[in-house]
Amino acid sequence: MIVRKLFHALPVFALTLFILVLLDLQLRSRNDQNPTAPFAHEKTPSISRTTAVTQQRDVVKNKQIPKRQKWRQIKPQPPLELTDIFIAVKTTGRFHNTRLALLLETWISETKDHTYIFTDSPAEEVSSEGFNIIVTDCPPEHSHQALSCKMAAEYDHFMASDKMWLCHVDDDNYLNPRALLSLLEAFPADSDIYVGKPSLDRPMRAQELLEGNKTRDVHFWFATGGAGFCLSRKLAEKMAPWARGPRFEQTSAVIMLPDDCTVGFIVERRLGISMVHSNMFHSHLENLLLLVPSDIPKQVTLSYGWFENKMNSVELKGVFTKDEDPSRFRTVHCLLYSTTSWCPVALKRALSWNQHVLP
Ligand code: UDP
Ligand code: MN
Repeated sequence: MIVRKLFHALPVFALTLFILVLLDLQLRSRNDQNPTAPFAHEKTPSISRTTAVTQQRDVVKNKQIPKRQKWRQIKPQPPLELTDIFIAVKTTGRFHNTRLALLLETWISETKDHTYIFTDSPAEEVSSEGFNIIVTDCPPEHSHQALSCKMAAEYDHFMASDKMWLCHVDDDNYLNPRALLSLLEAFPADSDIYVGKPSLDRPMRAQELLEGNKTRDVHFWFATGGAGFCLSRKLAEKMAPWARGPRFEQTSAVIMLPDDCTVGFIVERRLGISMVHSNMFHSHLENLLLLVPSDIPKQVTLSYGWFENKMNSVELKGVFTKDEDPSRFRTVHCLLYSTTSWCPVALKRALSWNQHVLP
């Protein structure tokens, strides 16, 4: 009798067991496919830092995370500060008293502690004022090799520092520190970022030298050095095999192009990482008159230079005439930092941006 009852119950029991196993399997696979909200920010560049931090806190609270996902937990990152940025300025002896002096008086006075000036001639006077001057062994020339030599020095010094970002500018760039910070803090911490502005509207074409005197065509985007660009530490670390020590100049020789193109080549071709194109960087290769005055304070970099016997600079009204301030860097600086000692009192009392910049 008992045996018969058992015999009838067996299929029901087996079916129940089968359903339970099936349910369990389904639940597990759903968990694996969908790491769910705590991790969703990892691949969303537009997410704000605050949201990311809140989500990271949620990760820590969530004890249900499957074991094999635990490695993905990230420590909360403190917010990025301006002093986390290693600002490298490239200059040369003959521009110390002209171009460099203008930068020291304007934006570098606001970023002195974390701005490093790479040159080829001693500048004791400048160092004695507390500015960081790095006198390289690079030749004082505008050749590919000389420029790559300075870029290599910038890279090596940054790598030896504890900074989070390397931002390069030329000595004819105005760098707006607050705009730079806003740009960089929007990127997720610990991501591979190379951001700047291309000078061409298409990728650069180059001939890569191969062994046995062979060559091959390569295409890549690069950020023009004359407009400035930034590299995150994580990406800079990955660049080391082609950028550390003498390697940078060697890589530059492989494509027979200058320093800024070499950075683009390493990032896009050697590492397969795409450059982030930004319209906030400006070189004197573009028509700077096209920048709308009210947009100028938001730009990360500006520049100036002679083009066809005319000064190419931003058009900005202010108390300095074009003769007094041909680059317009002093005018921009007084608008951004009106309490600077040499900024005219009239400007300090400015009630609104419009009163001074619009005709
Ligand atoms: N530069 C240099 N050595 C030189 C000439 C220029 O290091 O012999 C630097 C200069 O200080 C600047 C950058 O290279 O930071 C670009 O130089 P410049 O603006 O004169 O030329 P561009 O390439 O913009 O036409
Ligand atoms: Mn220039």
